[in-house]
Amino acid sequence: MAYEAHPDRYDTIPYARCGRSGIQLPRVSLGLWNNFGDDRDRGVQRDIVLRAFDQGVTHIDLANNYGPPPGAAERVFGEILASDLAPYRDELIISSKAGFDMWAGPYGEWGSRKYLLASLDQSLSRMGIDYVDIFYSHRFDPDTPLEETMGALATAVNSGRALYAGISNYDDEQTRRAHAILNDMGVPLLIHQPRYNFFDRRPESGLFDALVELGVGGIVYSPLAQGLATTRYLDGIPSDSRVRTANWIDEKRITPEYLDHVRALNAIAEGRGQTLAQMALTWTLRHPAVTSTLIGASSVAQLDDNLAAASAAPLTADEIAAIEPHAIHRLVDDWL
Ligand code: NDP
Repeated sequence: MAYEAHPDRYDTIPYARCGRSGIQLPRVSLGLWNNFGDDRDRGVQRDIVLRAFDQGVTHIDLANNYGPPPGAAERVFGEILASDLAPYRDELIISSKAGFDMWAGPYGEWGSRKYLLASLDQSLSRMGIDYVDIFYSHRFDPDTPLEETMGALATAVNSGRALYAGISNYDDEQTRRAHAILNDMGVPLLIHQPRYNFFDRRPESGLFDALVELGVGGIVYSPLAQGLATTRYLDGIPSDSRVRTANWIDEKRITPEYLDHVRALNAIAEGRGQTLAQMALTWTLRHPAVTSTLIGASSVAQLDDNLAAASAAPLTADEIAAIEPHAIHRLVDDWL
């Protein structure tokens, strides 16, 4: 049956301005890193994306390497666009990135102009679109002049293949330099995408301050710590969970100490009438540098649970203080 978007889709979720720009993003955005490869059910993938759009989630985040296999998520999303969302292209903010390993040889990863622009063309072709709304440098490349990487982003924008430029996984000093270089090229830096959750608090040490000061938006990824900041693992490790189905989280990280902290966090969430997933998202959204929190979902039920956080009451000072002893940096990994 032909898809028709929900007529009330803009009545549900609040939006926030992305830094000093004309763009507003939904407070909760949807990412297709996991759950959108060839290993998952196409029907569920379509349901998740369309349900998100029907709830006002206008921003879908992708990257060249999302899958499995790498590239599959962009292809799958391109199919959903073609079959359902094409009439709504102008209501969507679609992002992609290049930076991690994508193809063999010296031009298939990191930050060269050669890699970034070839990768962007491949992403556009996989998704069947003429432009992405945001194109990111996915990680800082210590061996390529930053002028070259930012120059590639500027070319992406100036050639119309991207409307805005973004960076991801850059620290505060790298961000300041990237912002200045892009500024000199007449291309504003729209947004930064760092990881931020209860167990990865790096952006609090300078990056968030830099974003506010520079007027750059912030969209934080893995706000649920890939499921570890939810009740997903409280009663054992489910067979369909990310710990079992992907290689990103080592099950050795699910220690009695971790479980104690998650139980304590869950009690605080229950006390304010939220699920733990919702409280984890509300917690990321409390920071003024955070425009949007970027979730993943393996089911429509998870998506719905998470979207409710967009309109939840902010945390009180007492609740933030109660969360503090359990929001322990590096409790679950030391990734990046
Ligand atoms: P999350 O931290 O939101 O983790 C998503 C996972 O958490 C789901 O797959 C699911 O796990 C579990 N989950 C989600 N909702 C609930 C819920 N309500 N209750 C219980 N469990 C839940 O985000 P991701 O790690 O998936 O990252 C989100 C997006 O961020 C990516 O899709 C990508 O767009 C972006 N990203 C960017 C990176 C970068 O370098 N720029 C790196 C990583 C991500 P399960 O599958 O077990 O059901």
